[in-house]
Amino acid sequence: MDDVIAVSDPEVAQIIAAEQRRQETTLELIASENHVSPAVMAAAGSCLTNKYCEGYSGKRYYGGCGEYDKVETLAIERVKQLFGCGFANVQPHSGANANAAVFMALMEPGDTFLSVVLSDGGHLTHGSPVNMSGKWFNAVHYPLVYDESREDYGRIDYDEVARLAAEHRPKLILCGYSAYPRTIDFERFAAIAADCGALVMADIAHIAGLVATGAHPSPFPQCQVVTTTTHKTLRGPRGGLIMTNDEALAAKFDKAVFPGLQGGPLMHIIAAKAVAFAEALDPSFGDYCRQIVDNAGALAAGLLEQGCHLVSGGTDNHLMLMDLRPSWPETTGKQASAWLEAAGIITNKNTVPREERSPFTTSGLRLGTPALTTRGMKEPQMQQIAGLIGRVLNDQGCPETIDTVRAGVLELCQQFPMPH
Ligand SMILES: *Cc1c(COP(=O)(O)O)cnc(C)c1O
Repeated sequence: MDDVIAVSDPEVAQIIAAEQRRQETTLELIASENHVSPAVMAAAGSCLTNKYCEGYSGKRYYGGCGEYDKVETLAIERVKQLFGCGFANVQPHSGANANAAVFMALMEPGDTFLSVVLSDGGHLTHGSPVNMSGKWFNAVHYPLVYDESREDYGRIDYDEVARLAAEHRPKLILCGYSAYPRTIDFERFAAIAADCGALVMADIAHIAGLVATGAHPSPFPQCQVVTTTTHKTLRGPRGGLIMTNDEALAAKFDKAVFPGLQGGPLMHIIAAKAVAFAEALDPSFGDYCRQIVDNAGALAAGLLEQGCHLVSGGTDNHLMLMDLRPSWPETTGKQASAWLEAAGIITNKNTVPREERSPFTTSGLRLGTPALTTRGMKEPQMQQIAGLIGRVLNDQGCPETIDTVRAGVLELCQQFPMPH
């Protein structure tokens, strides 16, 4: 495939080749990223990109959709088996689109929903003022527990969720986050929602793979709506999904996705989703997800040994959130991630609870283990990587340290190649 591009468009081919090299020679610790299998990649690059299939299986607006009906149905059946739910829409182009479709299906403009304080680990689509969800709906936010002397420091303040739900009577209560290292208590959310007549929407974009394999509790049957991406821990192509057990809600979601929000579905991506779901149904994917969690635990323990401070003190899932303020008050997330990138360690700056810096600067770093685990790394490598990260931070980005760490990173990358 790459050779074909090299002949027809050397400029783009060169960019793709350079990116391939970057992925091969750096350690990917961005918690929302992964390396897909060659089969997922091939399906995403297949001739299924050529077809218009507006509508749903058996109800298309164009002729010639027979094979596409089969592949979309296959993807839906696999999702249902994977997550144990009754209905799924596999057409959302992204997690953001899945969330927008649910909002469109369940709320009118101006309606109130409840979600986490965005700088405490929430997602843009959960009510940011610059996003449709915050512009057209009334977002009320619940906090984490900020008091470090409390045992549940850094976890969701469920009592506040209950208080705000009773006060504001939202239509929807959102749980599921982008930078939350702890287990989500879906039952608690469901009980709070039942008390105020709200529905619970669990956005499991980050933890979908863990949920599918039992490495994190499932939002079913407690939550009425579950949205996710397919490209994070689930290790599929970039895309979104909506799931429910309620037939009437499912019909509303289908209408909201098409014709409400999107046009023609990305059938090559839906085929790639089907391939990824089959991979996730294989028992080996359960081993993979358990290793992601074990690796995160090992990385967190190693970072704590290096003097790092982790929000909530550690992790239950695939990610951790480093608060730089206690150990390195002058170091911003932006600075730290730039130093680490120079050493070949790719992370992202992230806000931390009670953040005082801007989202472009931040006081935190988010780190996750899904991509490293895909490369076959285990606890000893996590220990080693924690040491490398600690050196860069403790030496405050000293150029000699960065050079030494970069050499260590390259050695690890050679030992653990990407899937191909
Ligand atoms: C990543 C993420 C999304 C959005 O996914 P995109 O595919 O980037 O639109 C939505 N919700 C949460 C919680 C996420 O982490």
